[in-house]
Amino acid sequence: MAKFEQARETLISQLRSKGIRDERVLAVLGRTRRERFVSPKFEVRTYEDGPLPIEHGQTISQPYMVALMTECLELTGDESVLEIGTGSGYQSAVLAQLCREVVTIERFESLSATARDALRAEGHRNIRFELGDGTIGVREFAPYDAIIVTAAAPRVPESLYQQLKLTGRMVIPTGGADVQTLQVVEKRSAGPSIRDICGCRFVKLIGAEGWQDHSG
Ligand code: SAM
Repeated sequence: MAKFEQARETLISQLRSKGIRDERVLAVLGRTRRERFVSPKFEVRTYEDGPLPIEHGQTISQPYMVALMTECLELTGDESVLEIGTGSGYQSAVLAQLCREVVTIERFESLSATARDALRAEGHRNIRFELGDGTIGVREFAPYDAIIVTAAAPRVPESLYQQLKLTGRMVIPTGGADVQTLQVVEKRSAGPSIRDICGCRFVKLIGAEGWQDHSG
């Protein structure tokens, strides 16, 4: 059995026992090689169900959170999805196997470049890489069937809501800088319908419609 195959199977059982039900999402996580997106320093922890550090003080999200957020989007295969926060590229790899096209935006050039190399090496051809402030979305390819925000926002950025198709869904952690609530926002003709999913902790979404950057 290949080096990580058993660990991946164990992770999928854990995700099932934690409540992930979408078989397509579980199948994709079961074949996505997380080791390709994790720093070699943390190789032994690749299939622990937790976040791990990546460059610039950022993180590769916990597999459970990747599965849950993906499940919340209810993808059927033909969607155009915008991801804010490319990070390691792991979430992009999962999305790319469940929809038509992913547009992913990252504010750190080196993270975007490393993720792009890993995703290309893994054979994903339906991902566009953008660099910049994702809080204002990516107008060029809007509107999107779904939007996933993988960093914590003080509130739902208006620009992102605008770039969602009518009946489209956005999954986003909103709240304070330390703890947030994962929310699903559906765009309806009468206005947004918002559902709280669970508590969560993400790194900050920094930008014009997010938190201010105090790193100097
Ligand atoms: N999806 C990522 C993964 O699978 O590894 C998770 C990445 S991490 C939790 C969140 C990412 O959001 C970080 O890489 C961070 O640099 C990025 N980020 C924060 N604010 C951003 C913004 N305004 N635009 C684009 N990316 C942003």
